[in-house]
Amino acid sequence: MKTCGACNLCCKLAPVEALKKPAGVWCVHAKPGQGCGIYGQHPEECQTYRCGWLKNEGLDEDWKPTNCKFVIRLDEEFRRVIIANDPAYPDAWRKPRFYPVIKSWSRDLGVVSYVGNRATMVYPDQDLDVGVINAGDAVHTGYHDRPPMRAPWVRIQPVGGGPPREYVGRYGPS
Ligand code: SF4
Ligand code: SF4
Repeated sequence: MKTCGACNLCCKLAPVEALKKPAGVWCVHAKPGQGCGIYGQHPEECQTYRCGWLKNEGLDEDWKPTNCKFVIRLDEEFRRVIIANDPAYPDAWRKPRFYPVIKSWSRDLGVVSYVGNRATMVYPDQDLDVGVINAGDAVHTGYHDRPPMRAPWVRIQPVGGGPPREYVGRYGPS
């Protein structure tokens, strides 16, 4: 069975709502490479967190966060895979060992790759940089249809108000 061992990269790469900890920076309670400085009193969302590598027996040691430099999480409610990259290795997910597999996931699931809170939406035929997504922003995704072509479309409504941002990708066969 897989274990976290000396990895505690989720304490850097994943956001922790209860602590207002953003993605991509070490938690103030973390002891990198060792564990949690408040273990036992750490928030429930930390206690229940299990990254995609830990949960998925199909992902080998190459996908362990300490090796690949990103943490994967499957959001089952929204059928999305979220990739949280270490800002020190922002393109690790695009390495040939990982990228084709990640692209194949995007055929059936939403896939979004983050460096901090900067997001790239991943599709089978293209990647779409949609800028910063902050906690609480409303994100809507879909396609612009222009039969027989279509293009991915993303609309982000900032949580603090202000105008929404829209992104449209390249048109391709639908
Ligand atoms: S990133 Fe995954 S393997 Fe590493 S500590 Fe967190 S849950 Fe464990
Ligand atoms: S509270 Fe502990 S387990 Fe949670 S992110 Fe911080 S160091 Fe990690």
